[in-house]
Amino acid sequence: MTITLKEIKEKKKVEMSFYESSIKEIIKDCELKEPTKINCVFTLKGDKVSIKIEISGLLSANCDRCLENFNKDINIVEKRDIKFDEFGEEFDISEEVFQDILLSLPMKFLCSETCKGICPECGKNLNYEECSCKTTDEHG
Ligand SMILES: [Zn+2]
Ligand SMILES: [Zn+2]
Repeated sequence: MTITLKEIKEKKKVEMSFYESSIKEIIKDCELKEPTKINCVFTLKGDKVSIKIEISGLLSANCDRCLENFNKDINIVEKRDIKFDEFGEEFDISEEVFQDILLSLPMKFLCSETCKGICPECGKNLNYEECSCKTTDEHG
């Protein structure tokens, strides 16, 4: 999705919404369920363009502890100012959107902060059932 500097200069403020389907291809360990809605507002500000990006969608990932698949809402709001010379005549907003999503992803995906994980002895998902194994390290 691209926007031209000319258009922003003419209108002072340009708002656009689109659904991005190619985002999921760049994210390795998880998947963005479609549709991922992107809303961008470009505002002329001196010799800069102020960009506000709002991303909302549903992320599907596997929990690092219990390995179960889970869905998580993502809601990202990012703002930044870009100078005209960096902005160029035509600007590809998709790149910015990718970066924002990547930066917002956690180092570890957990289905919940309190996920108990899988018993290393018997392999049971401890979120669903207790097991009688005595593990030395209770928190894994
Ligand atoms: Zn889990
Ligand atoms: Zn067990």
